[in-house]
Amino acid sequence: AAPSLPSTMTALQIQSQGDLSVLETRTIPLPRLEAGQVLVQQEFAGVNYIDTYQRGGLYKLSMPWVLGNEAAGRVVAVAPDAEGQGIAVGDEVAMYCAGGGFAQYNAVSRDKVVKLPAGVSTKLAAAALLQGLTAWTLVKESYPLQKGDTVLVHAAAGGVGLLLCQMASHLGATVIGTVSTEEKAALARENGAHHIINYAKESIVDKVLALTGGNGVQGIYDGVGKDTWEDDFKVIARKGTICTFGNASGAVEPFAPLKLAAKNVKVIRPALPGYIQTREELETYSSHLFDLMAKGVVRVKIHDVYPLSAEGIRRSQEDITGRKTTGKLIVDVSK
Ligand code: NDP
Repeated sequence: AAPSLPSTMTALQIQSQGDLSVLETRTIPLPRLEAGQVLVQQEFAGVNYIDTYQRGGLYKLSMPWVLGNEAAGRVVAVAPDAEGQGIAVGDEVAMYCAGGGFAQYNAVSRDKVVKLPAGVSTKLAAAALLQGLTAWTLVKESYPLQKGDTVLVHAAAGGVGLLLCQMASHLGATVIGTVSTEEKAALARENGAHHIINYAKESIVDKVLALTGGNGVQGIYDGVGKDTWEDDFKVIARKGTICTFGNASGAVEPFAPLKLAAKNVKVIRPALPGYIQTREELETYSSHLFDLMAKGVVRVKIHDVYPLSAEGIRRSQEDITGRKTTGKLIVDVSK
């Protein structure tokens, strides 16, 4: 690392997985730059539901661990073997990463960073990248929706949910969104949902079947998980695809394949790293995303900006699991 860099940094590093009390900030050495990596001075990091699974233990991690799965900032060093590959000191970049987001610096593989185009700030990039790539790969790969389809988006006012509403309506689908409050209903509508079901007080099954003439929907994008899983089978159309991609209400239980036979249903349980592993995949998909942002198709709504402190991260996790948020939560990691 260059001599002007500090030797230590502030990071939200957990020593064990557990309840919110495991969240603490520490002063730790700057990450060492390994072969193939770039060192980034991070400015903003994105909060994702996965942070709560990683903190709580649903997803196992080796300890100690710096939480945070995406960030954006400025490159301050490039490993010699990663030089001349399109990323240089001074570039503004964004990354989705396996940890390290909630820290002032992060060393990541050159293949995991993408250069920001003009017009995309580090704040906007940290708010858009992970959920934007998730939503786009869901509608393009998990269930590649067709113009004229009707699709169901659960938690339609959430981070991924709002982006799914924007993208699916842009691609010509009729979008039915589920939400838990009237305020979220209005927001999902503004972002492209044509019909809304408030699943806190209305039946998903009755309303979807009424809206689709009893046929059900061609695709379901379900990040809620356990609570919506059984209803998904009641409202999926014959030959439809259920994309179960998250566990906000708890993880889906194991099931027998025979469950799919009644309507020849497909079920996919995608995870973003399975779609975006190579540099080429990251560059292709992020250029689509930045293009959709430039055209105004994708509009990121920032719910709140939290500080890089134990209290700040705790509040972000309480807010997202408490269903208090809409759109995207980010952390200012520059201080
Ligand atoms: P959200 O902003 O969508 O927050 C979660 C939302 O889920 C809440 O706002 C709430 O909306 C809804 N919800 C329904 N039931 C519950 C419950 N029992 N407890 C808490 N929330 C509930 O989060 P994200 O956009 O960050 O993530 C959405 C989902 O996508 C998550 O499951 C996440 O794990 C998944 N994900 C998966 C990825 C992958 O690669 N597979 C990548 C990124 C995200 P409401 O009040 O309207 O019901």
